[in-house]
Amino acid sequence: MAPLIPFNKPFFAGKELHYIAQAVTLGNISGDGDFARRCVEVMQQRFQVHKILLTPSCTAALELSAMLLELQPGDEVIMPSYTFVSTANAFARMGAKPVFVDIRPDTLNMDERLVEQAITEKTKAIVPVHYAGVGCEMDLILTIADKYGLRVIEDAAQGVNAQYQNQYLGSLGDLGCYSFHETKNFICGEGGAICLNSEEFVDRAHVLRDKGTNRQAFFQGLVDKYTWCDIGSSFVLSELNCAFLYAQLEMFDEINQKRQQIYEFYRKNLQPLEEAQLLRLPRIPEDCVSNHHMFYILLPSKTVRDGLLAHLKEQQIHAVFHYIPLHTSPVGQTWGYREGDLPVTEQCASCLLRLPFYYEITPEEQQRVVCEIEKFLITNVSQSLLPDSLQLKTDFQRPLDTP
Ligand SMILES: *Cc1c(COP(=O)(O)O)cnc(C)c1O
Repeated sequence: MAPLIPFNKPFFAGKELHYIAQAVTLGNISGDGDFARRCVEVMQQRFQVHKILLTPSCTAALELSAMLLELQPGDEVIMPSYTFVSTANAFARMGAKPVFVDIRPDTLNMDERLVEQAITEKTKAIVPVHYAGVGCEMDLILTIADKYGLRVIEDAAQGVNAQYQNQYLGSLGDLGCYSFHETKNFICGEGGAICLNSEEFVDRAHVLRDKGTNRQAFFQGLVDKYTWCDIGSSFVLSELNCAFLYAQLEMFDEINQKRQQIYEFYRKNLQPLEEAQLLRLPRIPEDCVSNHHMFYILLPSKTVRDGLLAHLKEQQIHAVFHYIPLHTSPVGQTWGYREGDLPVTEQCASCLLRLPFYYEITPEEQQRVVCEIEKFLITNVSQSLLPDSLQLKTDFQRPLDTP
């Protein structure tokens, strides 16, 4: 039996335990200590973000965003349905309604051309999700937001250290949210951050994040005692996690480079199968720098996808599908959404397969993955041309990379 190729394997940069020991020795393992400060400084500088606050997860950062916007029951927030539950949950738990729009078949990001028609009098915000670390068409989204007076919160959980038009994802909207979950590029087990891209939200973000108190102002000597001043929660990341994260952030370039190599390998070696119309490969628009968070392929049908998934599993290769579209979920349906509402989302979700992708995967292992895909498609898919909805359309304004 061939050795197992897992889907993901958390990467340890090397100094994690050293830094954790240092945090323990320093005697402060709660939040906002020395390692938090160091992580924040590195990221604020590199990503050109006005202010970053570390949170226990990207989910927490999204929830903090929704609290900062003071959303009311009945408000509407525009987002893709093809995303992780946390994107919608954060706003839904404030009573707001997620208004789902379809995605583009090239990047699988929210189709910016559908945003304007989804706006109503109740719309308060737009939440672009940068899928796979490839930036949404932020120029247009920000222009629309500006025109209608809406807030933009970037779900950049997968987009840490990736760029759109020379600006880092997370730094473009009013607020941006990062994840350091062990499945992401830079990890600390569970962790996240919120980017506050202007001074506007800074004071209140400190208060909401610190149990609704002005403890931050107290520590800074701005008030002589701290007290309960807003309805907040506890959204602070432990120093132990910050120490772990700091070791990872020191390896920004190495991690990016390695992931790019892994991506290019799949891209190059699967190219003939795309030319044979047996699958479709991801695309990165020319004005984006990806962080190569993942590598997915789109198969001609759900049957082929599920067959390939089972075949790879038999060969000890763990590939996985991704989101069940939120509009077809039990909660999504409570807002009246039905299957069939968002055709591109549904098609992509049912035809997509993510390939094993982690820092330590070797070219030999990747070659094995490619060979098994090839073997399966060539023997099982005769003449199965990609359906029209998965073809790359030419009517998008963004030039795509050419293989
Ligand atoms: C991973 C992810 C999240 C949640 O991140 P956590 O840090 O696990 O809370 C949210 N949105 C997207 C798009 C993600 O990929």
